[in-house]
Amino acid sequence: MKVLVAVKRVVDSGIKVRVKPDGIDLQGVKMTINPFCEIAVEEAVRLKEKKLIAEIVAVTIGPKQGAESLRHALALGADKAIHVTTEARIDQAVQPLDVANILAKLVERDNYNLVLMGKQSIDDDFNQTGQMLAGLLDWPQATFASNIQITDGIAQVIREIDGGLQTVKFKLPGVITCDLRLNQPRFASVPNIMKAKSKPLETIPLDKLGKLHNSIQITKTEAPAIRKGGAIVENVDVLIQKLRNEAKLF
Ligand code: AMP
Repeated sequence: MKVLVAVKRVVDSGIKVRVKPDGIDLQGVKMTINPFCEIAVEEAVRLKEKKLIAEIVAVTIGPKQGAESLRHALALGADKAIHVTTEARIDQAVQPLDVANILAKLVERDNYNLVLMGKQSIDDDFNQTGQMLAGLLDWPQATFASNIQITDGIAQVIREIDGGLQTVKFKLPGVITCDLRLNQPRFASVPNIMKAKSKPLETIPLDKLGKLHNSIQITKTEAPAIRKGGAIVENVDVLIQKLRNEAKLF
């Protein structure tokens, strides 16, 4: 069984970003693999360790620095990587339907049995690509996975839904998007980081597989309003008074 794992390079979640009207200022900003994509890679590696899959291929779509995220996936245990290159901004111009279209082309070319993805990219927060990919391939999907079991070609997935957990199962091939509680990704060891440098990495220019449609235009980006400082109140009565008279909550 072959698994394709889609990994996106995003601004590190610990960074306080500078917001400009035309988008986040990426100049000199620390970038990392999207955390949900790292969870997807870890899950693929665990499935391979259980001998449920034979090969893990990591893929990213983005500028040349995206190769860093692929090397990270290779250091965690992916066998091969595919870099679909474009100089377009991946947090703006490379949109979910574009990514889904390109991933669908790779699935058709290489015959994967499963696609593992993050549930969401933390830069654009779309939470759409996995669902669109499943639609394009006409494959079953399980989103927000917090547990994945594969037996005899059947995937059983526990999904995190509002107020509970839902268990679904389907016959592979399929698409699964990974949620936070699925696993805790391992650290890449130094020998594995070194080994990753010699694993195969195929580069394909984006226009060989598809094109960017720019179907959504970003008209404005703004930072959230600055929160006013808090205050310590003497007792519950003063708190209730303030909530009533100042915050006008009731
Ligand atoms: P989104 O729909 O943008 O929230 O992204 C959901 C998931 O789609 C991500 O966690 C990745 O697994 C995948 N994805 C989105 N954009 C890219 C990209 N440029 N390259 C590779 N995978 C991507």
